[in-house]
Amino acid sequence: MSVAENLNAISSKLDRATLIAVSKKQPIERVQEALDAGHRVFGENIVQDAQKTWAYSGLKETYPDLELHLIGSLQTNKVKDAVALFDVFHCVDRPKLVDVLVKEMKTQDKKVGCFIQINTGEEDQKSGVLPCDLGALLTHCHEEGLDILGLMCIPPVDEPSALHFAFLKKLAFRYDLPCLSMGMSSDFEKAFALGATHIRVGSEIFGARP
Ligand SMILES: *Cc1c(COP(=O)(O)O)cnc(C)c1O
Repeated sequence: MSVAENLNAISSKLDRATLIAVSKKQPIERVQEALDAGHRVFGENIVQDAQKTWAYSGLKETYPDLELHLIGSLQTNKVKDAVALFDVFHCVDRPKLVDVLVKEMKTQDKKVGCFIQINTGEEDQKSGVLPCDLGALLTHCHEEGLDILGLMCIPPVDEPSALHFAFLKKLAFRYDLPCLSMGMSSDFEKAFALGATHIRVGSEIFGARP
């Protein structure tokens, strides 16, 4: 199947959910195939890699209707570059990052959509706020004037992802947040069935990352 066929096949199962084509580490020719097929929403997990693929290549200028999502964790020293390049962050997870983001968005006079990442599996190595700290973080966002679209999670590899998707949905409902970023190549249909509004799919569209 071609990249265009994969995009079609997946989109047809997602109704109105946003399909984020995760282009990280993919050869530029495959990314171009998706662009040629009319796809404009892409996800990257590392700021510097995204700059290479989208900014320095000229693609961002060529396609002004691009929508770039940062789905990997964000260090405060990368916030300036990230705000300049991306349209949506899926990785807000601590008060300090909120403060730096708010300041940088003001400086650049640019609004970036924000999801809070939840460490639903409470894994040490994973970024994301612990579920028990979400309320305090949302209060902080509110005080600083940072609008939050919704919640994002990456379930532990060794647990049924549906449990984490259902939990994320429950948290979003509790705090009245409209969007849910969940589901990858292996489980996007489950995520959609459980209410995902933003689905992040890489290898199922572009093939295995080299
Ligand atoms: C890489 C990545 C994806 C896409 O993974 P696939 O298995 O290739 O679909 C989705 N979300 C995040 C946060 C990622 O880092």
